[in-house]
Amino acid sequence: MLHFRELMRWTAVLAAVLSIAMACAAQSGKPEPKVAADPQIAAALREISAQRIQGNIEKLVSFGTRLTLSAQDPESLAAGHGIGAAREWIKSEFERYSKECGGCLEVKTDSFTEQPTERIPKATEITNVYAVLKGSEAVNSKRVVLVTGHYDSRNSDTLDASGDAPGANDDASGTAVSLECARVLSKMKFPATIVFLTVAGEEQGLNGSRHFAKMAKDQGWDLEAVLNNDIVGGDKSAEQDHSVVRIFSEGVPTAATEQDIRRIRGLGGESDSGSRQLARYIAEVGRTYDAGVKPMLVFRLDRYLRGGDHYSFNQQGFAAVRFTEFREDFHHQHQNVRTETGVEYGDSLKFVDFDYVAHVARLNAATLASLAAAPAPPANVHVLTKELENDSTLTWEAAPGGLAAEYEVLWRATSSPEWEHAQGVGSATRTTMKLSKDNVIFAVRAVDRAGHRSLPVVPVPER
Ligand SMILES: [Zn+2]
Repeated sequence: MLHFRELMRWTAVLAAVLSIAMACAAQSGKPEPKVAADPQIAAALREISAQRIQGNIEKLVSFGTRLTLSAQDPESLAAGHGIGAAREWIKSEFERYSKECGGCLEVKTDSFTEQPTERIPKATEITNVYAVLKGSEAVNSKRVVLVTGHYDSRNSDTLDASGDAPGANDDASGTAVSLECARVLSKMKFPATIVFLTVAGEEQGLNGSRHFAKMAKDQGWDLEAVLNNDIVGGDKSAEQDHSVVRIFSEGVPTAATEQDIRRIRGLGGESDSGSRQLARYIAEVGRTYDAGVKPMLVFRLDRYLRGGDHYSFNQQGFAAVRFTEFREDFHHQHQNVRTETGVEYGDSLKFVDFDYVAHVARLNAATLASLAAAPAPPANVHVLTKELENDSTLTWEAAPGGLAAEYEVLWRATSSPEWEHAQGVGSATRTTMKLSKDNVIFAVRAVDRAGHRSLPVVPVPER
């Protein structure tokens, strides 16, 4: 029989072996080294208020229904009922934030008439409401990062223009994220521009976001990132995980041409769309700042066979991802408010966890602020392929806008979901890595003097 003291000794040895094994695992399989937090961004995150978010979601629910087909006439606006009244309130809220920052936000609407379609029985005016925090630096202000949520709602019947459709989670929560990010970030200055958007028409077929994304494309916006928040209420069902938010990102880009797809297939680039780089960026932000919620990357355009507004931006070739709570409760979305055989249906206020929405808003704000403070990504990133060699030479052009102080090369195993290594290469725009491009995936990103990182760019081959 084993003596007690001997047993303790063996337990200690085993514990030591285990801790070394775990440390090794942490070094090999784990994502890239930590990026230091910006104290100003960290301070801004503390300004995000669950109480204000709760007030905004309650206000949005108070309009009764926000169905895109619901009332927009002057009487309904005055009575505070229907989507028209919701739109006017969102606009007034953005204007109030702007007043608080000395007019720093430009509050705008994007209105258009949608002709009849399957879920729009007659021609309907749809209005997107947004606020622009213009970048403080001439060249970089042309770069745009954007956060959005849809303010329209629905109940069991997508054509029921008058019945109650509280839409507290779907998607007053996402609208509240956009509003709260605007309120807090408008107190700061960033070299790049941030757009705080709320769209309508999502439930009728992504109509509002489609119009807005097309406008951005037609006007040649340099739109680097779109964060779509849809169903971020943290429904209080028993199986909910309130410590996690899902980030959905497309693999092969929706907007890829046949030629792009041939290159992606040939190089194993299926997991390196701009949207996926954005998702990885959010994962890194989640490690740098304590938002109170951890991003869980889902490598899929959206939930199984379902869609959302980020897709409208993907269709125009922009990097766009979707934030959604860990576990949806389908009794609480797209349902008339009612109780049947003891089950409560409907997207009501009481199922929303306002602290959770605030956590998601913090993750969004940290991402928007990090990107808007960062340099533009390096341009024309190439990997040289003239010679067959086991080293890899990367070249790029300086990030436009002059904010980049240095560059970092990132790499990961082809089978790894996230960047695993980062190596600073100074201000050079060319470097040779003692690693074979056959075995890893590379990217290059720009870093400013304060340590803000741009989105990474995966090189294309130069023959
Ligand atoms: Zn939705």
